Amino acid sequence: MLDHGRARARARAGSAAWLLLLCWPLWSLLTADPGLVRVAWALGGVALLAVCWLMITWRLFSGRGGSPRPWALAGLLGATLALFPVLGLPWAYVCFVLVVSALAATLRPAGFVAAAVVTAVVEVVVLWALGASFAGIWWVPLVIAVQAVVAQSLKQMGVLVMRLEAARAEVAQMAVENERLRFARDLHDILGHTLTSITIRSQLAARLARTDPDRAAREMTDVEHAARQALDEVRHAVTGYRAPALSEELDKAARGLRSAGIELDVSPAEGPIPASAEILLAWAVREAVTNVLRHSRARHCRIVLSVDDSAAGLEVRDDGTPTGEGPGATRTGHGLTGLAERVAEAGGRLEAGPSPGGGYRLCVRVPVEAS
Ligand code: ADP
Ligand code: CA
Repeated sequence: MLDHGRARARARAGSAAWLLLLCWPLWSLLTADPGLVRVAWALGGVALLAVCWLMITWRLFSGRGGSPRPWALAGLLGATLALFPVLGLPWAYVCFVLVVSALAATLRPAGFVAAAVVTAVVEVVVLWALGASFAGIWWVPLVIAVQAVVAQSLKQMGVLVMRLEAARAEVAQMAVENERLRFARDLHDILGHTLTSITIRSQLAARLARTDPDRAAREMTDVEHAARQALDEVRHAVTGYRAPALSEELDKAARGLRSAGIELDVSPAEGPIPASAEILLAWAVREAVTNVLRHSRARHCRIVLSVDDSAAGLEVRDDGTPTGEGPGATRTGHGLTGLAERVAEAGGRLEAGPSPGGGYRLCVRVPVEAS
């Protein structure tokens, strides 16, 4: 943003510098002992011209994309004509530079071409009326034509730069939104799992407190461990990206399910799972196991990992009651939606729902690059 501001300030200063062209005609006037009326006339005309010129060019560089106002152009043309009688030939030789640029900035291409032709004709007539020789006139229309082409191209380039700036701002905005989405997803996945595990273990510890105080104490130590880990993971999520490791997630799943009294059976993949797919499968294990804990009321859970040349896969199946009415259940959860988004981003596929033989089934397939 700062860079845009600086570039704009430079462009504005550059356009103001073009007013230095007025030095030559003004110097010629002042050194010719002109009298007070002519000096006042010249200064009034120059002031009007300068104000209109700056209004036209500064609006063009304002970055808001608006075209300069036609009345500013009318003021500039009026001041240009009014200055001919007092500033004479020197003015006639420099004024068209400002006039052509102002026309290019204000008018559409078709109108601009016509206006540039009229400017060339008026220039020739004025130069001739002010006593310029043929040698001092013939090249002026050529210079005007060249300047018209340059001014028009510069304007188009400016419009392009402005569009690019707008596109860049949009891309930056999208990056912020994606990051926000990622963060929301990470936070959900991290806290959803750990808080579920903490709830279940605390309930278990409360139940065991009288009958088996030693085990209750062990469960509470695990709860403390899980809470510390969650804190750690939230810190990581806040400061940057932390991808879960598949083996770590499988260990955590085993611990969590065991303390909820759910038997886990893991069938590992036949070969190594590529790192890119492994991260996604780790997220999927985390979400699927959290859901088994929260929603399934299952006795048994089975995780099957697979990998072949084209894809890595995960299936998590339980034998619970997929009613969606489990403790703490919400029907419009973010978990599976977020996971489906992650999987889709990697070109993969997620299927989740009650399985025909009873229980719930979550299946993820992520493409891997052939080695
Ligand atoms: P959340 O867990 O926040 O409710 P999810 O998107 O993870 O959201 O899950 C959506 C819904 O799918 C859950 O609310 C639940 O009704 C159902 N569900 C998911 N997994 C299971 C499962 N293993 N057993 C039963 N129901 C499930
Ligand atoms: Ca969930």
